[in-house]
Amino acid sequence: MTRALLVLLCLLALSAPALSQAMQYERPVDTAPREKDIGGGYTTPEVQKPLPRGAWLLILDFALLGAALAASVWLTIYKRSRRAVVWLSLFSLVYFGFYREGCVCPVGSLQNVAVALTDPNYRIPILVTATFFLPLIVAALFGRAFCGGVCALGAIQEFVLIKPVRVPRRLDQALGLLKYAYLGAAIWFAIQPAASRDFLVCRFDPFVSIFRRTGFAHMYAIGAAFLIGGMFVGRPYCRYLCPYGGLLSWCARLAPRGVSITPGRELDCGLCNDACPYGAIEKMRADQAGCLYCARCYRSCPVDRKESGLIAIEEIRPA
Ligand code: SF4
Ligand code: SF4
Repeated sequence: MTRALLVLLCLLALSAPALSQAMQYERPVDTAPREKDIGGGYTTPEVQKPLPRGAWLLILDFALLGAALAASVWLTIYKRSRRAVVWLSLFSLVYFGFYREGCVCPVGSLQNVAVALTDPNYRIPILVTATFFLPLIVAALFGRAFCGGVCALGAIQEFVLIKPVRVPRRLDQALGLLKYAYLGAAIWFAIQPAASRDFLVCRFDPFVSIFRRTGFAHMYAIGAAFLIGGMFVGRPYCRYLCPYGGLLSWCARLAPRGVSITPGRELDCGLCNDACPYGAIEKMRADQAGCLYCARCYRSCPVDRKESGLIAIEEIRPA
């Protein structure tokens, strides 16, 4: 608990510069050169999506993010219901994914926050800062509830998983390091001077083209490749590439509460281990850093099902 509180204090301290820069920004479009001034047959490209959104709708988005996080914690840790987590994921996929077209997005906001912390001329709305920190704070207290039922990127992968194969532990761990390299690269490119700045995480988001139904053909292809691969390797983007997932896993290590596969008495039968498609169970216990809060292991657990009145525990106690 003490470590979680320390992390919260660090997160609050880190957020101070970003918060202090949260003021209204207006792009000086009147001074931009026009098509006729540029010449050479130049045509102004279409306005990029998502379009600007009203302030109260942004507040609504943030409120829904907070409510979904609270629901994810409650459904996973306290109610222990895989079915309810699936419904929550479906809501998040439809609302945050297809309706909001990938925004609200804590994953991409890490770049905005990194720039705001390093460039005094760069300003971000306070809600973007809050969107970045809220899932991290929840992770430091309860684990990766954001990944379980709230993140649209996770949800779209969750729903395509049909026949998970087990990735050998060493390969899984080695591939898992990629996300930290990607996190470093994303921050490095984001904090460059404005003229050469690049937001890699947004530019190479594999699912945003699918959510927005628009984008480059190669991004559709990358998204499709992740989804096809994700039919057999559980959530490949989450486990091996998502830079925000790296931050969440650091915070989740400190959480005093999290997924516990059996509510009290363990059988150590290994059924939960077989049920976890993300290799997040070690020595019959959920690994806080890697657990994606999908709640699958609950359904495989004889003790849990016995307490839910689904079966008699004697029926499947291993010999
Ligand atoms: S690991 Fe990243 S993409 Fe996956 S659910 Fe978590 S935040 Fe979303
Ligand atoms: S331990 Fe595995 S199956 Fe259980 S909630 Fe975590 S990721 Fe899902």
